[in-house]
Amino acid sequence: DNPRPDQVENLNTLKFSSENLVTIINDILDFSKIESGKMEFEAVDFNLKYIISSIHHALSGSALDKGLKFQMKYDSDLPDFVKGDPVRLSQVLNNLVGNAIKFTNKGHVIIQVGLKYLDEKQIEINFSVLDTGIGIPENKLNAIFDNFTQASSDTTRNYGGTGLGLAISKQLVELQGSKIKVESIEGKGSQFQFSLTFKRSDRNNKHQELDLADNNNFSAYSLKGVKVLLAEDNKINQVVAGKFLSKWDVEMDIAENGEEA
Ligand code: ADP
Repeated sequence: DNPRPDQVENLNTLKFSSENLVTIINDILDFSKIESGKMEFEAVDFNLKYIISSIHHALSGSALDKGLKFQMKYDSDLPDFVKGDPVRLSQVLNNLVGNAIKFTNKGHVIIQVGLKYLDEKQIEINFSVLDTGIGIPENKLNAIFDNFTQASSDTTRNYGGTGLGLAISKQLVELQGSKIKVESIEGKGSQFQFSLTFKRSDRNNKHQELDLADNNNFSAYSLKGVKVLLAEDNKINQVVAGKFLSKWDVEMDIAENGEEA
């Protein structure tokens, strides 16, 4: 809370390092899950438009920091809801859009979502991520999808990363019966594209409102008068939840386990 400017710098370093470490751990876990044939996909109703907006919203800060124009184009013919695996879709898109921002120093990044095919039961949707970044040499266009492979030996030094993201994304798309394609011109930019087939959802488009701006404004909420019993054994979770709850003026008590609760 209220860090001094010199502490902000250290906190940012910690944040960057911890996020980097989490990405590496998650990549390695996913990678071994895929290798051992244990990756499974869900088929649940989800709001696709909301997922795309969330990714756009979450990454717009880093695009803005680099002075990039960052656009989302969602085809108006598309329904909001479809049936499939939202977590794995987000993972692939986060990787592609994260890369697009990371490897672009000026210009723009665009996420495009469009309708490819529709019948009563299924819907095929096309996802593209375009950037005006450093591009990829033609002789590296296949290799970048290999495990632990980056386009150049100085990529880690200049941009970070492990070279696992695209290998995982490729597998996640292929395990759902499709393929990621890439087109790129060195020095001009890149376009990654894939399409996925979802089952049609019978949920109404209007079920979930798009109010991302409000959702992110946690600190403005007050829940004065609300009492919460937090049943949680992990000390760090207790501290984190306690901080949020006290910011919202919630009266809180902690129980270490279900019996105590
Ligand atoms: P990482 O981002 O951790 O290096 P990835 O597997 O996601 O690993 O990407 C592999 C490599 O592909 C990157 O290191 C980079 O060389 C190249 N690459 C991926 N996306 C882009 C992009 N949008 N523009 C330029 N190069 C890219």
